[in-house]
Amino acid sequence: MAFEGLTERLQKAMEKLRRKPKVTEADLRETMREIRLALLEADVNFTVVKDFVKTVREKAAGAEVLKGLNPAQQIVKIVNDELTKLMGEEAVPLNKAAHIPTVIMMVGLQGAGKTTTAGKLALRLKNEDHARPMFIAADVYRPAAITQLQQVAAQIDVPVFEKGTDVDPVEIVREGMEVAKQNHNDYVIIDTAGRLQIDEQLMDELANIKELVHPDEILLVIDSMTGQNAVNTAQGFDDKLDITGVVLTKLDGDTRGGAAMSIRAVTGKPIKFVGEGEKMSDLDVFHPDRMASRILGMGDMMTLIEKAQKNFDEEQAQETMDKMRENTFDYNDFLAQMDQVTKMGPLENILKMMPGMANNPALKNVNLDPKQFAHIKAIVLSMTPAERENPDLMNPSRRRRLAAGSGRPIVEVNRMIKQFNQMRKMMKQVTNGNMSGMQNLFGG
Ligand code: GDP
Repeated sequence: MAFEGLTERLQKAMEKLRRKPKVTEADLRETMREIRLALLEADVNFTVVKDFVKTVREKAAGAEVLKGLNPAQQIVKIVNDELTKLMGEEAVPLNKAAHIPTVIMMVGLQGAGKTTTAGKLALRLKNEDHARPMFIAADVYRPAAITQLQQVAAQIDVPVFEKGTDVDPVEIVREGMEVAKQNHNDYVIIDTAGRLQIDEQLMDELANIKELVHPDEILLVIDSMTGQNAVNTAQGFDDKLDITGVVLTKLDGDTRGGAAMSIRAVTGKPIKFVGEGEKMSDLDVFHPDRMASRILGMGDMMTLIEKAQKNFDEEQAQETMDKMRENTFDYNDFLAQMDQVTKMGPLENILKMMPGMANNPALKNVNLDPKQFAHIKAIVLSMTPAERENPDLMNPSRRRRLAAGSGRPIVEVNRMIKQFNQMRKMMKQVTNGNMSGMQNLFGG
């Protein structure tokens, strides 16, 4: 999980402070030292760390005047505010051209996630803007690159303009732009070549493409797992191409966090999106304030709520509520609910966005296996329509048949049915306004 070590260390530093009835000068120095070490260990750029700690120290010293407030909390707030500022304060939207097409050029080192991100971005534009994007395949050095772009494009139903690997990339882009104009595509996304490291020849080629099309957006795709190197890469690309934004990928991995915190400060360019998985839907807008709160282990409820809303079918929810009230919630509703939850992404990621959960030791080794969901589903799908509509039919012989039908052990079938019945009971109590049922469920 991203930021794990950093979150843990920052939380420890704050916790120590919290336990003191009065914060002395020496305590503050000690906390600053710990914050500094935590950031350096997370691979945050040295100069960035120095400036950051200096600002926090100054603000913390000034904050002593607010005697009424808990000093530890004041410092948490200062750290949170400064982290937010460091990462850019506000989310920065994609640039858009006054006249179509808006041209987005994807650049970055090989393996950073350029092609994947191009796909994610196109899907996002399609879903949110009803856009009709087109890709241009301008990486002519690896034949596999074109095939990969075509595969990504096929998944999301977006056309690709390509001319194989024997044509000059600048020429490909020139012809591609003509085709996009003829077809009235409103976005053109150019997938360019990457190398293992920055090299002059590639930079010249990218500069030539830039010269030709004057992109509205030059998005540098950066692998967040590469730490300090990510910052050097960003600087290299920015010096040559004057990029307009950054996409930080692989934030779902256990990146230490340095890139997220240094890139803006070092290049002055905003992180616009973050990639949090390999699926086409795993691209989120980068919100500095939410990221700060996530780094401090305070959760990211906003993103969680948005994810829920995006996947939420209002009509279905109303129907579920009605059924809960009428106590007619059955296995068909149960299936529909499971589908809604799985659409939000891996369960452990969802849990970790909740306040206090990111570093909760109870979650450390939790592996909410998606297979378990699949198993439950298999059991429900083995029911007859009558059984699904009438949960009270489940006698032992029917249970044995379900076990055989789903290929799951009978204990698992029994457990699932027991949990389902408990859930129904609780729903009835809750919708009747009797909350004691909830308390029982949580061991209260
Ligand atoms: P390119 O060489 O820059 O075009 O990189 P690719 O798009 O081919 O991506 C390289 C690898 O990184 C692929 O296996 C992708 O599935 C993976 N990848 C890209 N973005 C993410 C992300 O946000 N999270 C994870 N876990 N993997 C990613």
